[in-house]
Amino acid sequence: MSQQGYVATPPYSQAQPGLGGYQGGFGSAPAQPHYGHYGGAPPPATALLKPPVSSGTGLPPHPGSGPYNPNSQQNGAPMQRYPPATYSQPPQQSYNSMASPAPPPPMQLTNQMGTMNLGNYGPVQSAPSATSPVAQQPFRGPPPPATAQPSMQHQMGPAQPPMQHQMAPAQPPMQHQMAPAQPPMQHQMGPAQPPMQHQMAPPTSMSMGRPFPGPPPPAAPGGFHQPGLGPAGPPGYPQQTGPFMGGHMAGPQPGGFPGGLGPQPGPPQKKLDLDSIPSTTQVIEDDQARHGGQVYSTNIRGQVPPLVTTNFTVQDQGHASPRFIRCTTYSLPCTAELAKQCQVPLACIVKPFARLPNNETPLYLVNHGESGPIRCNRCKAYMCPYMQFIDGGRRYQCAFCSCVNEVPVFYFQHLDHMGRRVDFYERAELSLGSYEMVATLDYCKNNKPPKPPAYIFMIDVSYNNIKSGLVRLICDELKTLLDKLPREDGAESSAIQVGFATYNKTLHFYNVKSSLSQPQMMVVSDMTEMYVPLPDGFLVNFQESRALVCNLLSQIPDMFTDTNESETVFAPIIQAGVEAFKEADCSGKLFVFHSSMPTAEAPGKLKNRDDKKLVNTDKEKTLFQPLKGTYEQLSKDCVAQGCCVDLFLFPNQYVDVATMADVPSHTGGSVFKYNNFQVDTDGEHFLRDLRKEVQKSIGFDAVMRVRTSTGFRATDFFGAIHMNNTTDVEMAAVDCDKVVTVEFKHDDALSEETGAFIQCALLYTTVGGQRRLRILNLGLNCSTHLSELYKSCETDALVNFFAKSAYRAILNQPLKNVRDILVNQTAHMLACYRKNCASASVASQLILPDAMKVFPVYMNSLMKTAPLTGSTELATDERAHQRLAVMAMAVEDTQLLLYPRLIPLHNMDVGSEVSPTPVRCSEERLADGGVFLLENGQALFLWLGQASPPDMIQGLFNVPSLAHLQAHMCVLPELDNPLSKKVRSIINDLLEKRPRSMKLHIVKQKDKPEMMFRQFLVEDKGLHGGTSYLDFLCHVHREIRQLLT
Ligand SMILES: [Zn+2]
Repeated sequence: MSQQGYVATPPYSQAQPGLGGYQGGFGSAPAQPHYGHYGGAPPPATALLKPPVSSGTGLPPHPGSGPYNPNSQQNGAPMQRYPPATYSQPPQQSYNSMASPAPPPPMQLTNQMGTMNLGNYGPVQSAPSATSPVAQQPFRGPPPPATAQPSMQHQMGPAQPPMQHQMAPAQPPMQHQMAPAQPPMQHQMGPAQPPMQHQMAPPTSMSMGRPFPGPPPPAAPGGFHQPGLGPAGPPGYPQQTGPFMGGHMAGPQPGGFPGGLGPQPGPPQKKLDLDSIPSTTQVIEDDQARHGGQVYSTNIRGQVPPLVTTNFTVQDQGHASPRFIRCTTYSLPCTAELAKQCQVPLACIVKPFARLPNNETPLYLVNHGESGPIRCNRCKAYMCPYMQFIDGGRRYQCAFCSCVNEVPVFYFQHLDHMGRRVDFYERAELSLGSYEMVATLDYCKNNKPPKPPAYIFMIDVSYNNIKSGLVRLICDELKTLLDKLPREDGAESSAIQVGFATYNKTLHFYNVKSSLSQPQMMVVSDMTEMYVPLPDGFLVNFQESRALVCNLLSQIPDMFTDTNESETVFAPIIQAGVEAFKEADCSGKLFVFHSSMPTAEAPGKLKNRDDKKLVNTDKEKTLFQPLKGTYEQLSKDCVAQGCCVDLFLFPNQYVDVATMADVPSHTGGSVFKYNNFQVDTDGEHFLRDLRKEVQKSIGFDAVMRVRTSTGFRATDFFGAIHMNNTTDVEMAAVDCDKVVTVEFKHDDALSEETGAFIQCALLYTTVGGQRRLRILNLGLNCSTHLSELYKSCETDALVNFFAKSAYRAILNQPLKNVRDILVNQTAHMLACYRKNCASASVASQLILPDAMKVFPVYMNSLMKTAPLTGSTELATDERAHQRLAVMAMAVEDTQLLLYPRLIPLHNMDVGSEVSPTPVRCSEERLADGGVFLLENGQALFLWLGQASPPDMIQGLFNVPSLAHLQAHMCVLPELDNPLSKKVRSIINDLLEKRPRSMKLHIVKQKDKPEMMFRQFLVEDKGLHGGTSYLDFLCHVHREIRQLLT
């Protein structure tokens, strides 16, 4: 797809000498800025300076590199010019750098890092270091018993009294070095005992408390749930072994625990205490306590936003809201060498259609009329707050390429004494980080205004779907759902047109033009030359054709009720959709409801290529690779036409998801999968997904371009995207849950003074058929001190990047290599911090940057996910499905996927408005007398301890005891008591909030299905191999020590 006026950018490296970057900019603001129409008044300065609130656990919140920490603004770098003094800029305090400036790295470290760069997967590079004993084996099981248990230190800030946490028995000393101005505190966390000396409990001690001793049983993949594949699944699912399908609970795990790391004989060991290692739930709680409910103003360059898990309100004051863009670090290293040294990926995660809460202002729409958006002549960047006006306002210098441009006559405005345009606050593009612009005809295909998009529903009416009742379910739902199609703000009804087709081996189009008295069916049986037999009447306005559409939807299930046809086609029906959009000259989305592998004679016919023998071999990657040819071309055709494909799969066996999901995953679409679908248990779950998917806000026929200031540039992109060249990110559609993760590389030095700027410009067609640009601008700091980078890191964004990077890498590399790289890069990142940023300490201490202190738990969890786990117990389709789903996932979704919420319900206050606070994802937190909810955005469990309080069981299920509970329940009865209401409301809130529906599984402790739940306890050992969090941390620590010696 080529967009006139939107392409063609000269190289970034043509920096002009001269005017020296961004000056003035925000300067000092007028006392009463005109924010009324797009921002609201800036908050009082005190809003930002609220002191940290105690977290209620007795521990003070961790101070440190949060956005409101005044210390985060300096560190040797020049004062920020960006924030106006009147805009609640935190007071500047002198910042005593965290550590001495980075000394040059030792050769060994540098060389190793050079070979371990994750973003640079190659055939040779992950060769483990000869000095690393563990790197020579797949890091699957618990590492060998160490001779020295690491002690841990969280270095949170410079120059302050140490805070010592004396841990529980059998724990090493762990030191929290707190930020300045903290009183020294001592937390005696266990009975006072001498710290354990160089004696780490053998790995076996970690499994002492398991109710399922012995090798772990087969179960579903870590982190991703297979709907319908649980114990309720009917027999006859031979190719795919889901959890418990084998019913075999013992035996060695493929890929697990090599190197003789099995249970060690000896006296029972004391359990290691989880409280001694950094806690994700604590980090989330602390950030919520610090920033929750507050206004976050984006007026400071390089400011680290609150965590994705924190509830806060964003006020746009010049940088894009973190809802739209998040970065792995908000302080880039000045040079490529520094970047290479630390190995911290430099990336941003862009969610262009992020939902905004009701109390945040929707994006302001800028309209420059026929002259169109104002852009830099050279690099084509759009007018934004970082452009600097000079020469009395007649010219401006581009912040991205330094080119000096003439200000168009119609746009001229005088400058005030600060050098700022006097209309600064009246123009969104001068004062806001995010805004939209009306695109002129130059930005439209063929220089014609676009037509409103269309939604085409393509329903597989083969035997399975008819018999299961699925077709009737879909048709009934659409009758009401089509009233809720997305509409333009302020529009009375949706402009989106709709069309309907059914298919099995042949394709049936329906004419539902409002002038007809009955719907008409047109059958296409030649699948090789797809065409649309209805030039007119296939795509209609639902409001106008309501009677006919409802008539049709009532008839479809009956029309095929006697079908025996079980064969289907797949590629041709997508091709038909593309042709229909082409015919109508519009973009849009195909909703495909499909049940089986397309085996009918037609283009794109598939055959079973699932082969478990490939698992843990060099050819395992082929299980993830889509078949080339037909589907590859189809993706290109779809993107060229702006045809997004959503695939709802209802398989009873292997269907080759890797290939079938290829088109959706390149067109901004989603793939939903309901194994062994049954209307009564899965119907509502599926309908929740369908409703969300049909109603969500979305843009079509989109191209995104990421521009950067000189010195660095976007080099790699991840998402449900298509790229024809190296810079234009094409998306047939992009919805409110989809993100594009963008990696940056240096191509020159960056300046501490000017910082670094990113501008994401998304050209798209609205649901109402308007062509628009959505512009997102973000300024980052640059520093020659790595300590600044580590302080400004965002773990959740880093993990998002690593997940995508690793999931892409397994297309080309053995899993073992990829896992080794993840471990090694984790160790390198932390070793570099230790070497360059941490103050002197003994080598046995593990010191983690405050902003990354729970990074290891996520990385360990990532390695235990199904795509990265080489286990024949895992269904190939599930692994492929998860791999693709994660590629377009947002930061909050990967965070939740890799660290599920485990919510205790047994001790909550049912009268309280708030939900109970989640606890750590470890079986240690479970209790026989407890009831817990667990969710990760994909799966939802209600876990009932075997000694659950009878009154709770009565209140939730209206039965006297657990024994009376019927098996395989997936919904809570609606009972009129406070407990039932409270629990159902917590569940409904979760289902509402998450991008996807989750099927509720109710599991009893020690029942077989419980294993499905246990795989989500990500701090514990993985069911298919993979270590516990604590073991992983010990392993990483040993790696770090190797690197430092
Ligand atoms: Zn420019």
